[in-house]
Amino acid sequence: MIELTNVWRVYQMGEFPVVALREVTMTIGDAEFVAVTGPSGSGKSTLLQLIGCLDRPTCGSIRLNGIDVVALTDAERTRLRLDTLGFVFQRFHLVSLLTAIENVAVPLEAAGVPVVERFERARQVLREVGLEERIHFAPSRLSGGERQRVALARAVANRPSIILADEPTGALHSVDKTQIVNLFRRLNDAGHTIVMVTHDLEMAAIADHHYELRDGVAREASA
Ligand code: ADP
Ligand code: MG
Repeated sequence: MIELTNVWRVYQMGEFPVVALREVTMTIGDAEFVAVTGPSGSGKSTLLQLIGCLDRPTCGSIRLNGIDVVALTDAERTRLRLDTLGFVFQRFHLVSLLTAIENVAVPLEAAGVPVVERFERARQVLREVGLEERIHFAPSRLSGGERQRVALARAVANRPSIILADEPTGALHSVDKTQIVNLFRRLNDAGHTIVMVTHDLEMAAIADHHYELRDGVAREASA
């Protein structure tokens, strides 16, 4: 469960305040699939970073699975991120010097997974996204869609209850897009809560709820 109550995020740019989010209140239930749309600069990435404990609100409350994450220390937030959250970005953020399986396995070290199990699990999630044949490929030898599937495998390898995705299909062609959408659907069916920022109204339409951001104000879009 994700609960935001009267959340504001104001960036200070020199002497000018930039209001990225204003008074955002939303509740996202377990295993819900939520899409967030809105024009560039409307606060979508800021919202994901706050839910993902990568940033703190200027004021307001954020609770993840009942925990007040604003009150936690940085170390506690890092722990929570490793245990509970998976991130997927538009530009994949894979490490170019590592193979697909290493990209998925290496971050599991921070999560405290023993080394043999790390690679076992990485192999398994890569199989689940259809990349069994490509596990020893470097990212440069993979297509855009394949790279995003590696990034998705990395995000879910630690079985996070919440998956946060910032325009995950933004850099993909339509065939790859469909594949990624189907994977998100499957993850959602398997019980993961998904919050996805997207420009794609087709993707927003498959979500359980669709919020629209405008100048930092969120409202639920009618289906
Ligand atoms: P979106 O993802 O919808 O494009 P963002 O959340 O990135 O929007 O940005 C919302 C607003 O906050 C924009 O006006 C942007 O310029 C501003 N902003 C975002 N990040 C920062 C930052 N680190 N410092 C100052 N302003 C920022
Ligand atoms: Mg953004």
